[in-house]
Amino acid sequence: MSKRCVVQFCGNSCFTGHSTHRFPKDPVIRRQWVRFVQTKRADFQPPSEKSQAVICGAHFEKDCFSGHLMAEMGFGLKKTKLKPEAVPTIQATPTPEQVERYKVKRLGAVLTEEPGPSKAPRKSRAYAKREVHRVSACTQYMYGLSFFSCPINSNLPGQFPI
Ligand SMILES: [Zn+2]
Repeated sequence: MSKRCVVQFCGNSCFTGHSTHRFPKDPVIRRQWVRFVQTKRADFQPPSEKSQAVICGAHFEKDCFSGHLMAEMGFGLKKTKLKPEAVPTIQATPTPEQVERYKVKRLGAVLTEEPGPSKAPRKSRAYAKREVHRVSACTQYMYGLSFFSCPINSNLPGQFPI
């Protein structure tokens, strides 16, 4: 299973050489992690206990890691350990490409959400059209009725050859 960072605009994983960190068990710290992700991803659901959801090391200040000085000196970069009370604070910066893709995604979401409300005016337009047809049919009928029932018209020479 690929452990890809759940933070918006961040595609880091253990495959990209980043440290990945499971959501902490402590409910208070865990909630802060969830809130951090939700800042940019409103639809993000708090992961379950067994969830493999991770946040990569890029979202934590250096002092969130024990042994970060060792890492800075080039020792044991992979061995830096996230402190149990660490909370992510650094949001990912999207690339211009990601911003575009995000916009398209959002637009797509808006477009798929729209049919509901946009159907209504279409329906009412169709209704208006039908109404026009009905009215014109009605007037035609009325004209026709008056034409046929009008004794003057029926007496006109040439109108109704018998
Ligand atoms: Zn990340």
